[in-house]
Amino acid sequence: MAQDNFRSILTGSFSTPCAGNPTVAMIESGFKAAGLDARYINCDVKPENLGDAVRGARAQEWAGFNCSIPHKVAIIQHLDDLADSARLIGAVNCVKIESNGKLIGNNTDGQGFLASLKSVIEPAGKNVLLMGAGGAARAIAVELGLAKAAHISIYNVELAAAEEVAGIVNKNTSCKADAHLWTEDIKVPEGIDIVINATSIGFGDAEAIGKIDVSTLNKKHIVADVIPNPPNTKLLRSAAAQGCTTLHGLGMLVNQGKIGMDIFLGKELSADVMTATLKDIFGA
Ligand code: NDP
Repeated sequence: MAQDNFRSILTGSFSTPCAGNPTVAMIESGFKAAGLDARYINCDVKPENLGDAVRGARAQEWAGFNCSIPHKVAIIQHLDDLADSARLIGAVNCVKIESNGKLIGNNTDGQGFLASLKSVIEPAGKNVLLMGAGGAARAIAVELGLAKAAHISIYNVELAAAEEVAGIVNKNTSCKADAHLWTEDIKVPEGIDIVINATSIGFGDAEAIGKIDVSTLNKKHIVADVIPNPPNTKLLRSAAAQGCTTLHGLGMLVNQGKIGMDIFLGKELSADVMTATLKDIFGA
């Protein structure tokens, strides 16, 4: 039968700078494998143009868009409503444009991380050591809390940021969290099940590692890193040498994309296809 529909579904991302963001390649490989006539457009949107970009996406009836640095908090003023976890996290990376034009904000960073984590361990009842208290750490801490983790110890150089994240978890979930000033090598305490690097340490630097005494890691620990590039960080290599089960940041990236496209389109993209695309790009 001759083709009679030349209108693609439109999605995309607003960030700046955007040229180094490989999400477009990952998502479009997923669209292709699913046989979807859909596009993901990687847009460089400066802060002063965010409102116009949002209005443009709505006017052009996009299905939705992701937003990344520096728009994850600023986007909220342009939205009609927030999903519960995005409200707790206080940041949005995924906006669905509903058929009536309403804009609903989600945060899929923590959800993507948890989907990846659940491939190796069920977080309910577990004790977690979390390094970092920035946007990624906050999203992960909230989702761990909502998934009924037992306890989260949050380490950060700026203690106030860790205290703020611990406060959100304690106030809104059954999980207990506490904050620790991070100035010297962390000796992983007895009883910790999961160790997570949610700092930017390791991004673009395969030899960078945060202050942690890796000799205190052992085969009972799951060690996860949010860093997608390079995926095999020094923390993960050191943890693997100690016998730990390790999880790299590509899993988080792929799963947050997969969850986002499910929110936008109600379609499940292949995690295997998208992972292969990213591994190809990163030479992993
Ligand atoms: P933020 O800038 O919000 O937070 C960065 C965090 O890292 C802060 O807690 C900061 O501490 C800490 N940090 C940075 N450098 C150091 C250092 N030398 N020593 C100790 N702590 C340090 O960034 P995000 O949370 O948004 O992103 C963090 C990382 O997560 C990025 O590299 C990003 O690529 C990655 N990420 C990965 C995703 C994925 O899908 N795989 C999704 C989202 C993010 P302080 O508060 O003291 O400054």
